[in-house]
Amino acid sequence: MSQNESKATSITICAGCSGLNRIQIGNASNAKCGHCGQPLNPEATVHSVDLPTLKHVVKNSPVPVLCDFWAPWCGPCVAFAPIYEEFSADHRSNALCVKLDTEAHGVAAEAFNIRGIPTLVVFEGGVEKARQSGALPADALKQWATSQGIGA
Ligand SMILES: [Zn+2]
Repeated sequence: MSQNESKATSITICAGCSGLNRIQIGNASNAKCGHCGQPLNPEATVHSVDLPTLKHVVKNSPVPVLCDFWAPWCGPCVAFAPIYEEFSADHRSNALCVKLDTEAHGVAAEAFNIRGIPTLVVFEGGVEKARQSGALPADALKQWATSQGIGA
């Protein structure tokens, strides 16, 4: 790993304690959680969250949080997943991308007033900034995110 590699950082969620950690992209293979010491997964892009974790990251993330509210039975949601994964990988330094399974966590869908899926919500500074209902093709997703200040 060369010293000249990008120093870009990314916010990641610890699978053990849900703590937020800033890691260096491309140089985090030995990164451990600053809260509980558990090894972090440096390759994680879209994190699956439950309601308490979503609330925690929305409140504490230093970068905008993008949440995909989805369900496994929803065809458009499943089709959107790889598009979202790719977007997330491309925007690791700009945003923290998470997804919440509304079937497993119905109470979370209620808490965030999710009326249809997939719904994408951007949170910034602890509050909802924008939401988008319906799956987007990759280009439209990028465009929408850029209009919300998430862009390369
Ligand atoms: Zn931890």
